[in-house]
Amino acid sequence: MNKKLAAFSLSSLLFLGGCQFGDDNKSGQKQHGQTENKKPKKAEDSLTLPASSFNTIKKEDGREVIQNPENLLVLVNKNVLLPAGYAPKDLRRPNVNFSFGDSNEEKALMRDAAATALENMFQAAEADGIELYAVSGYRSYDRQVALLNAEIEQVGKQQAEQAVAVPGTSEHQTGLSMDISSKSANLLLEQTFKEKPEGKWLADHAHLYGFIMRYPKGKEGITGYEYEPWHYRYVGKKTAKIIHDKGYTLEEFFKVVKKI
Ligand SMILES: [Zn+2]
Repeated sequence: MNKKLAAFSLSSLLFLGGCQFGDDNKSGQKQHGQTENKKPKKAEDSLTLPASSFNTIKKEDGREVIQNPENLLVLVNKNVLLPAGYAPKDLRRPNVNFSFGDSNEEKALMRDAAATALENMFQAAEADGIELYAVSGYRSYDRQVALLNAEIEQVGKQQAEQAVAVPGTSEHQTGLSMDISSKSANLLLEQTFKEKPEGKWLADHAHLYGFIMRYPKGKEGITGYEYEPWHYRYVGKKTAKIIHDKGYTLEEFFKVVKKI
């Protein structure tokens, strides 16, 4: 009935969900009780974003297609697709180490804001004695088609669609994601990365540079993807901090954030 109250209980619910996996849910956050005039409300109030940060969706052939894919907070998943022809206009190669060296590859690209943030993050890691390698960033729609077809040939359609995004549903098409590895993980994208010093450093620090681990452990039912400790998505520092501190996924974040 009361809108504010409804949003309040939803976020409390999600917060509790996040607690189960969170190693980061401290920050003195108490359970939201009846205490009306207390500080925690402030944090709730700050969860507002302009309408342009939300997806604009149009149904096309029964599928939800994003109409404003250039939005830096764009939410892409198996149910909400990027337009087939979409390619960001501000792609560039960040100045970081790549697992494939200097070779000129599409997957080296990221959108400008994400590329700058990645450079800052890799520099900060290096200062902490952590050597990161970028493995795979931007992926065009056409390349995603080729990747999926190759996987289908190897393991069959059903299994392939579990592991490789159907074209239009890959976050890599946004130019805002980067798969990251390390020499200690043989520059591979494997779950053991979470145990390596580099994987741990990222899990603890990426939000400070505006990145989130997009497919966390235990949230497979929400993201639709297996745990990927190597896949980081740029969302900007403010959003990354909220998502990290509360243990949200991007999907959960958009359930609690309000339009202004
Ligand atoms: Zn990825």
